[in-house]
Amino acid sequence: MKKVSPKFKSLAAKLLYWFAANARDLPWRRTRDPYAVWISEIMLQQTQVKTVIPYYERWMQSLPTIQDFAKAKPQRVLKLWEGLGYYRRVRLAQDAARLIMTKHSGSFPESFDEVVALPGVGRYTAGAICSIAFNQPTPILDGNVIRVLTRLLGIAGNPRSKTVNAELWRAAEELVIASGAPSPLNQGMMELGALICLPRQPKCPICPLRPDCFALRNQRVEDFPATAKRPAATLRRFIALVVKDGERLLVQRRPNGVVNAGLWEFPNVEVPVNAKDLKKLIPPFQITDRSRFIEIRHSITRYRIILEAYNAKLSSNSLLAETNSVWKTQAQMSKLPFTSAHRKVMQRTIHLQA
Ligand code: SF4
Repeated sequence: MKKVSPKFKSLAAKLLYWFAANARDLPWRRTRDPYAVWISEIMLQQTQVKTVIPYYERWMQSLPTIQDFAKAKPQRVLKLWEGLGYYRRVRLAQDAARLIMTKHSGSFPESFDEVVALPGVGRYTAGAICSIAFNQPTPILDGNVIRVLTRLLGIAGNPRSKTVNAELWRAAEELVIASGAPSPLNQGMMELGALICLPRQPKCPICPLRPDCFALRNQRVEDFPATAKRPAATLRRFIALVVKDGERLLVQRRPNGVVNAGLWEFPNVEVPVNAKDLKKLIPPFQITDRSRFIEIRHSITRYRIILEAYNAKLSSNSLLAETNSVWKTQAQMSKLPFTSAHRKVMQRTIHLQA
């Protein structure tokens, strides 16, 4: 067992005391089932708690065990995930569920090395599962924990750099060992980052670690964590073509091997950001109404994306095969997983038709 300092013991004790009195009642905190902890952790990556709650509850009702998840059709899995984004997460998770069925006889592995070897599971997720579900002293380091530790201990430098990152993992590990209670300690760290040690205007006056905080004592809270300059986002523009045939609409499934593979969308074309004349850019489609009926702006990783949707038709029905698209009724489309932006286009289309 690694030696821990009295300072870390005292910090851990304060955090545990605070967490016992202040933990939110979140659905994944009502269980120690490693499968449930794992699903909640994957959903919570890049996504806010309040968004995740209904997804998590729906998921656990539909696929309550690893066996159910491993056996589920990919389209059903994507439908349950629809709107959470970063769909690669759930595809890798299903690979992991299948591996657990074959390699671990359907039981979630308990050793850190076996958990971290699962597809899509990194050091953070493995640490969260092993500590929360199995109460092992495995550290975690996510955005919330980085913020708390850098401020609390005055850890300067870019947290993504190798040396600073290693220092943060060491501190997280010492703290979780010092606590003697890994599950609530790690959850407490995340909770403190989510509720008190906020990115802007942290609630230092009610923070349980206030007397020990380097950043507060030195009036340098804004200096931590150091932020690396982000590269400028690249703007991309897509034109979605909404082609109707009575009740039916033309839609396509994104092929395997591309971003958002397996999700559905309207036929669409990427065009130069400043393109004015779209005619030559969208064959075999023709725009039938020059005014776009919806424009959606969103960001994916380093891209800022503009999606404009227009009513359109095929210049000839014989060209349908070229589009890789199929006709679907509204009822059929409601059962398919769509990307969030194209789901909005569909809802707008249905609204305008009503
Ligand atoms: S005192 Fe303020 S800056 Fe320091 S850990 Fe608490 S909330 Fe964060």
